[in-house]
Amino acid sequence: MSDTRQKPNLLIVEDEENICELLQFNLELEGYAVSIAQTGVQAVKMVKAEYFDLIILDIMLPEMDGITVCETIRMQNINMPILFLSAKDSVADRIEGLRKGGDDYLTKPFNLEELLLRVEKLVSKNKRLQNTQHLADVYEFSGGKIDFAAHECLDKNGQKQELSKKESALLKLLIERDGETVSREHILQVVWGYNVYPTTRTIDNFILGFRKHFEQDSKSPVFFHSIRGVGYKFTSKEKK
Ligand code: CA
Repeated sequence: MSDTRQKPNLLIVEDEENICELLQFNLELEGYAVSIAQTGVQAVKMVKAEYFDLIILDIMLPEMDGITVCETIRMQNINMPILFLSAKDSVADRIEGLRKGGDDYLTKPFNLEELLLRVEKLVSKNKRLQNTQHLADVYEFSGGKIDFAAHECLDKNGQKQELSKKESALLKLLIERDGETVSREHILQVVWGYNVYPTTRTIDNFILGFRKHFEQDSKSPVFFHSIRGVGYKFTSKEKK
């Protein structure tokens, strides 16, 4: 780890002692601070009390399974990254885990090197996000100026336009991830929450609206991109 100021804080949620030991030993060796929860209930409690840079979450747990733990955590708007670990290997389980808000998935028996690499990747990605999370209330770029708090913007012609709360939220999310593709699932999770999922068309319409406000030519956008089958991307830098 190049950043030695503060060790990344990991939580392992796993009821099998030998796997816990293996993970703890190797992750501490890599420079992480490691906490252990042996049940899902304990994990939920710990997550409420402390920030973790990553949760390694087993699916088959006594009392409360890992999927439910993940769901419970996400319902409380806790965005710590989650790496699912499970003996279950069916595609359906993977999809369910990711759909419930997991960030990655690894099946047992896992390759230790691979696990360590994925952990490192998730932790550093999260750190990057955290650093950009405190976006100021007003964001200015060559397409216009957005005031997230006031829910309004100045469009490409300098005209004031009102934004809905959801439009502001989506703009903020995309701009925070400048240059990165944000998945539909993630947008739905963050902007719409869990209960009311709109159709994909709704996000498309929002993006069309943004283009109208901020793009010189809506048909060949330079800021707001749709990545077919994956999600959406904002890029602040115009590419020729
Ligand atoms: Ca287990």
